[in-house]
Amino acid sequence: MKALVYTGPGKIEVLDRPKPALQAPTDAVVRLMHASICGTDLHIILGDVPTAQPGLVLGHEGVGIVEEVASAVHNFEVGQRVVISCMTSCGACKRCRQGIPAHCQTGGWVLGHHIDGTHAEYVRVPHATLSLHALPDLIDPRAAVALSDALPTGLEVGVLSANVQPGGSVVIIGAGPVGIAALLTAKLYTPALIVMIDRDEARLATARELGAETVQEDENEGAREKLLNLTEDQGFDSVIEAVGIPQTFALAQELVGIGGRIANVGVHGKQAALHLDRLWDRNISIHMSLVNATTTGKLLTLVATNQLEISRLVTHNFPISNGTAAFDTFRNAAQHRALKVAIDF
Ligand code: NAD
Ligand code: ZN
Repeated sequence: MKALVYTGPGKIEVLDRPKPALQAPTDAVVRLMHASICGTDLHIILGDVPTAQPGLVLGHEGVGIVEEVASAVHNFEVGQRVVISCMTSCGACKRCRQGIPAHCQTGGWVLGHHIDGTHAEYVRVPHATLSLHALPDLIDPRAAVALSDALPTGLEVGVLSANVQPGGSVVIIGAGPVGIAALLTAKLYTPALIVMIDRDEARLATARELGAETVQEDENEGAREKLLNLTEDQGFDSVIEAVGIPQTFALAQELVGIGGRIANVGVHGKQAALHLDRLWDRNISIHMSLVNATTTGKLLTLVATNQLEISRLVTHNFPISNGTAAFDTFRNAAQHRALKVAIDF
């Protein structure tokens, strides 16, 4: 089968790989229809995620058709359309019982990280019972790739962690697919103000069309003043950091208001400073986590009942044979006016 493989810092190649086989009674093998690229894949290729080693098939997002199920998987059948969760979990270990299946002791974030992922014609999915979600016929599989990771991350690690409330104020730093997913799901909680900041004007244009106010990032810190002015200098109730660099984590700390919450979503490859000298007396909470992907079922229902419109997230599709172009497009998103980039099989 064709697979997109991380072959060393800065390098990816489309290679021929053997089709994966069932290895455990809890496994399934899924034939991919569509997969997609996440900002985290870019961090892996940069070498920011040292646990992901060269030789790995990339990808933790995808939609496909169940090809094989092992003996202990009773809730899926061969031929069924499924969304593959970015987190696989057993449901039984200490971490799963703690409510953090992202850290499942025999699963967690493994696809495209510790074991071969979804950027291939077939993928082996461990703990298939909890790690696959039936995809209703009503939902376009091309758009549904956003349900593997971007949408649950925007909702769980962004909106819920930042405690977005009716009438509150929200700023989302970063208008990539995850930031836009946070915008789409924040709207479900009816805050009075949602502002997004990015340097990419095309992504900000999408954010405006989806109902956010926008401010373009600039190097002279003028953007910070503009953002704070929108809150009459009170700061934001909810700050969602969806970039993952020291500057944007610093900005998050400058934008949060008294009693507010910062939700750090970004994957950080470099040390980022925490300014306790400015924050200690302001009753701020900071939350950071891997996505648990426990809201995927709820999100599927919202999409299927037209309460959540996700068709704007995927902007580009490439065949797997041209998978390196898919990565180039996502990496140079501003030039290509790209949001989420998908790979077709
Ligand atoms: P992305 O790279 O497409 O989006 C990042 C956005 O940040 C881009 O639009 C870019 O223009 C913008 N940006 C860069 N520098 C900026 C600056 N100084 N100020 C404002 N905006 C700036 O990535 P994505 O897929 O949207 O993911 C966003 C982040 O979320 C990544 O760090 C990704 O690794 C992380 N992530 C975390 C989890 C988790 O479990 N915590 C899950 C998925 C993704
Ligand atoms: Zn577990």
